[in-house]
Formats: sequence, structure tokens, C-alpha cells
Amino acid sequence: MSRDILSMTFEEMSAAFSEMGIQKFRAKQIYEWLHRHLACDYSEMLNIPKSLRDTLSENFPLYNCEIERKQVSKIDGTVKYLFRLHDGDFVESVVMKYKYGYTICVSSQVGCKMGCAFCASTLGGFKRSLYAGEILSQLYRAQKDLGERISHIVLMGMGEPLDNFDSGMRFLALISDEKGLNISMRNISLSTCGIVPKIEDLLNKKMQLTLSISLHAPSNELRSKIMPINKKYDVDELLGMCRRYASETSRRISFEYSMLSGVNDSDECARLLASKLKGMLCHVNLIPVNEVAESPFKPSTPDRIEKFVSILSSNGINVTVRRTLGSDIDASCGQLRLKENQKHKKGDD
Ligand code: SAH
Repeated sequence: MSRDILSMTFEEMSAAFSEMGIQKFRAKQIYEWLHRHLACDYSEMLNIPKSLRDTLSENFPLYNCEIERKQVSKIDGTVKYLFRLHDGDFVESVVMKYKYGYTICVSSQVGCKMGCAFCASTLGGFKRSLYAGEILSQLYRAQKDLGERISHIVLMGMGEPLDNFDSGMRFLALISDEKGLNISMRNISLSTCGIVPKIEDLLNKKMQLTLSISLHAPSNELRSKIMPINKKYDVDELLGMCRRYASETSRRISFEYSMLSGVNDSDECARLLASKLKGMLCHVNLIPVNEVAESPFKPSTPDRIEKFVSILSSNGINVTVRRTLGSDIDASCGQLRLKENQKHKKGDD
């Protein structure tokens, strides 16, 4: 049975090698090549005999991402990668520079099933979930390409990470492994549209990561219109789980709220949101919606956003407006893949 090597833990690799009669110290070497030196291919592992490299590549394929396209924002230096996976599918990652270091936004699936009305990932259709190694590889390739250490991660690119739970958890274990890049869980955020039972599974793992919830509307009537997942797990069920999460982990929940002009940006929405979040250890991140050509939503005006902020703050809710980074390079999730797929459909290159 062939196994994707980049998704294997050190223990799994050691066990698989020993079953094949490969010496024990080789697992340590290979693991370091992959997760410390960020090797893209077995041919780079020069202290491993060629015959062993051949055996390994036959039995343990290395599913690395290749850079298909790279765009750098002239405005703020944000870098967007379109990566080609081993089977020809595409995913996107974005690297942003903040005062505290470089942050990468990685994808967890090729496309998305969740159907949020304003999101380009959904428009491109769902293809498949990524392996843990393919999520890692986005970071490894970007770090190598930039020659800069990436210290923070947001699982906020294409796809719904809690719809790919096991690979997501495996990714977290590998990226925070001290034998690898050893990124602290405190520097990692996971964003979900609100799959409540999976949030509970995450809670039971008692990890120190930051949970982000894509809320975008305070009432069921409105949320169900723009986010189909709300018909399965409604606002109150979701917020109930968030309260439990915050109190049991003592970690502040981050609520994402895309401001859609005339849809979810009224004073009434702000008041209802404030009342529903009252007393919870949380923070609201307002994001002027990124316009996607195929969807009808427009960003709220700065005045509207300011009023929304003032209602939340005067009700004691922590709130910030997210800076828009990479607006000149289609840095909103799913936009590049959508363009790439359309290009391939049209048959030009
Ligand atoms: N599926 C996960 C993570 C991926 S989406 C989730 O739903 O959280 C990452 C974030 O970008 C989510 O908050 C999502 O709602 C938001 N988003 C998607 N399309 C957007 C757009 N066009 N403008 C602004 N935010 C968008």
C-alpha cells in the first residue's frame, strides 16, 4: 500500500519503515528533510542512498504543491499563490506581512460544499478534501519561495476545515511538532462556517488555537439566506457552542462578519448582534465584503461600517474593522482558482 509521506507523523513513518526493514535512523533523516529542510522531492535528500530514495518514492509518494502562479500586491506586498496539486487541481494561499511576522492563509479543500452566497470558493464547485501534507506543503513552498519564516497560520483559505476534520487535526499536529517547524498553536487560527458537532470535537481536543466563526448575520432569517449551513445548525445553537468553547478553553472567539451593503449592515443587525454576544469572551472582526464578479453583494460604505462599529462598542463588544490586504491581486478566497478554471474551460492559456 502506498502512503502519502508528508501526511505521516514521525511515529507512523518509523513504524512503516521498520516493517519494510529500513533502518531506524532513516526515519529521523527523512522526517527532517521533509519538515525542517522543506524538501520538495526525494532527489534533494543527498545523504540518503539512491536505492533507498527509489524504494521510498515507489512506496511513499511525496505530494508536493507546485507554484502555478504568484502575484505580489503593489500596495502592501501581500503574496498570493496558486498552487497545483499532484493531480492537477488548484488551491490558493495568501501570505500577509504584519508587524508580528508573516501569516499564511491556507486552503483545506479544493473548492467548498458550504454554499455561502458571497464566497468565490463555492462558485468554483467542490472537488475534494486535501491531505494533511497538502495543507502543510502550501506553507512549506511559500516559506521556501519567500525565504522568510512564516510564524502564523490561518486556516481560512478555500474550503471548510471542519468538513476535513481528520486531515486538519493531522496538519495541526505536524506543524506544531517540535521535530518540524514547531509553530505554536497560539499562532494558529481555524475558521469555520459553523459545523456545531465538529466544533464540539475540536473543543474536546482542548487546543490553544484561536477559533474563528464566520457569523455574518445575527438572525436565523438572514443567516439562512446567505449561509445554507444555518439551516442545519442555527445561530442560537452555534452561539451556545461558542459560549461553551470560550468558557472551557478560556480562548477568545473571533467572529467574522462580512459587511454586505443593505443586507446585514443595519443598526438593527448591529443591536441584535450585540445582544447575542453579550458577556461572551469574544471579538468581532468586520470585513467589507470583497466583491466577486459572479455574486451580487457590494461592500458597505465606510459610514455604515463606522455606525455598526459604534453600536457594537457602545454595547461593550470588542470590535475591529479588518484592513483589506491584497485588494489588487484577487486575494479573496477562491477568486484565483475560479479564474484559472474558467481559463482552462475556455481552452486558452
Ligand atoms: N469555510 C471557512 C473558512 C474559509 S472562508 C469559513 O467559512 O470560515 C474564510 C473567511 O472569508 C470566512 O469568514 C468567509 O465567510 C469569508 N469570505 C468568503 N468570501 C468572502 C468575500 N467575498 N468577502 C469577504 N469575506 C469573504
